[in-house]
Amino acid sequence: MADSFDDFLPEALRFRSPAPLIDIGANLTHESFNRDLEAVLQRARAANVTKLIVTGTDLEHAEQAVELARRYPGLYATAGVHPHDASHWNASMARDMAALHKEPEVVAVGECGLDFNRNFSSPQAQERAFEAQLGLAAESGLPLFLHERDAGKRMQQMLHAWRDDISQAVVHCFTADRATLYGYLDLDLHIGLTGWLCDERRGHHLRELVGAIPLERLMLETDCPYLLPRNLPAKLKGRRHEPALLPWIGREIAHWHGIGEARLAEATTATATAFFRLPHTDSEGLQHG
Ligand SMILES: [Zn+2]
Repeated sequence: MADSFDDFLPEALRFRSPAPLIDIGANLTHESFNRDLEAVLQRARAANVTKLIVTGTDLEHAEQAVELARRYPGLYATAGVHPHDASHWNASMARDMAALHKEPEVVAVGECGLDFNRNFSSPQAQERAFEAQLGLAAESGLPLFLHERDAGKRMQQMLHAWRDDISQAVVHCFTADRATLYGYLDLDLHIGLTGWLCDERRGHHLRELVGAIPLERLMLETDCPYLLPRNLPAKLKGRRHEPALLPWIGREIAHWHGIGEARLAEATTATATAFFRLPHTDSEGLQHG
């Protein structure tokens, strides 16, 4: 039988996780997925990636993420304003976000946080928008999906002040150093890992840190279409990252954690299911088209 949706991935990149995986960070509202989203979801299913959290990075994309979660089983959405867009934060946006957080498809507040690496919005604007979204998380009781780059210290100060008022929080795409990691774990936060550590040039330090993350605090994500793993065993046309490649990242992380691929898959899926309060059964996961 010809599986046309498989043609896009070369044979060497058709992975299948030994246990179901959850991709907790998929930017499926990115325009690069407009053309072939259904095929992308079918390939994820074939790879045993059964649930996806679609990242909402501003009001427009959060609304789109909710729409996708309504249309496709196994998809869930986050709703927040990314630190890059923090300068647009205002009272009416806060009200619209609070309304989105009541939708059953929305499982986290975010992506929000601080990014002092690029400062597309000023640090002051970032802190203002982040503070407001910490408040929305406290109000809604939803967990937080956090972004932090070169801002670990300030992030931990702000989280410390809110820690008793918010439920759970995950630092997505963690790439920082050991001291920052320990600071987050001390705050009883969760850690999201991407294929960053597949990058020989800049991910090396992460490989030694992976084992320090308890399995009940660790979750996996592609952050697709960004962060295509650099050590894939074959070239990928267009170099767009997608959820079907998550098993490769899981395999790498399991290796550096010193456990089997299946054990890592089972543990991270259990952690993500509890964290985002997802249904336990696979029957509500991604369906065959
Ligand atoms: Zn991010």
